[in-house]
Amino acid sequence: MPRPIQACIHTDALAHNLQRARRAAAGAKVWAVVKANAYGHGLARVFSALRSADGFALLDLAEAETLRALGWGGPILLLEGTFGVDDLARCERLNLWHTVHDAAQINWLASRSKPRAHRVFAKLNTGMNRLGFSPEQYRAAWQRLSQLPAVADIGHMTHFAAADVDGGDDDARELFLRTVDGLPGEHSTCNSAALLRHGGDAARLGDWVRPGIMLYGSSPTAPQPDARDWELRPTMSLCTRIIGVQQVAAGAAVGYGETFRAPRPMRVGVAAVGYADGYPRHAPSGTPIVVDGVRTRTLGRVSMDMLMVDLDPVRAAGRAADVGSPVLCWGRDHGAEMPIDDVAAAAGTLGYELMCALAPRVPVHVA
Ligand SMILES: *Cc1c(COP(=O)(O)O)cnc(C)c1O
Repeated sequence: MPRPIQACIHTDALAHNLQRARRAAAGAKVWAVVKANAYGHGLARVFSALRSADGFALLDLAEAETLRALGWGGPILLLEGTFGVDDLARCERLNLWHTVHDAAQINWLASRSKPRAHRVFAKLNTGMNRLGFSPEQYRAAWQRLSQLPAVADIGHMTHFAAADVDGGDDDARELFLRTVDGLPGEHSTCNSAALLRHGGDAARLGDWVRPGIMLYGSSPTAPQPDARDWELRPTMSLCTRIIGVQQVAAGAAVGYGETFRAPRPMRVGVAAVGYADGYPRHAPSGTPIVVDGVRTRTLGRVSMDMLMVDLDPVRAAGRAADVGSPVLCWGRDHGAEMPIDDVAAAAGTLGYELMCALAPRVPVHVA
């Protein structure tokens, strides 16, 4: 029998979440963001469920190549643009849209001769200070781009630094609209947080929205509003089983470093999942986890291949809590749900990181 760990990708939930994004988008076109191998889900595994998107946005030319091989003929946007002049021939061959956020990328485009071969989004830095032209540089960059024979179309893009809190993107949006005022071209500003928070408000959403994390059922505004509040469904479940049970005496320790001590005699389960599977090692003792449909907690440190769980609440609920009992680390399983954002919050991280960290050794089932 194989080790009992398995991840499950829920295509019905992906399709639902995309519909949720479309409803919020109020007529704006939707780039389904599938960077980082579809946030750890696997590009090929999510493609069918998301193919009613208007386009796919990602970073990696190899992933763009994969999408074309899967049969996607529609728009693909490179969110970080080209990484070198050689990428431009590939953009032409694969018909990719790309972001232009730096003067170097304009120089590369200037060396291409095929007329009107490139659709680009110029990127404005509205305060995040990651990618993009400053507001002072922006119009000159646009001017240069618009004079290049290889450029067919220039949209305008920014990425908000603080779209997850009320009012956090107001100044940035204003700066964006002021900077691009009067220039032709489509607008794209909203990630999941901005899309959900401004859902239905067509004037704020622009021409293209760029939802990522919401498609995968994690709340961009966690802990509140949470995924349920936004009507998002979990798309990835990480499941395993109990492979050992210890009856632990009061005062005895559990796990490496003896960080947890049993305050009373306890029944402790050993689950076949650890940090080498992508379960976060920094999840502290007490992180929520579901065993046999009952929400309980981890005990002590997460090891490479195992972690320990408190079986007493499971027994108290009338379940066997024994070798073979199913364990749900996050996601959904037989009516039980363990929000990935709750595990992430306990571990001091985000649903994004947990999904992306799913290890290659975990077998994945697509449902
Ligand atoms: C990742 C990314 C997104 C999607 O962000 P989410 O928070 O996952 O919705 C949108 N735009 C850009 C530029 C990105 O890099």
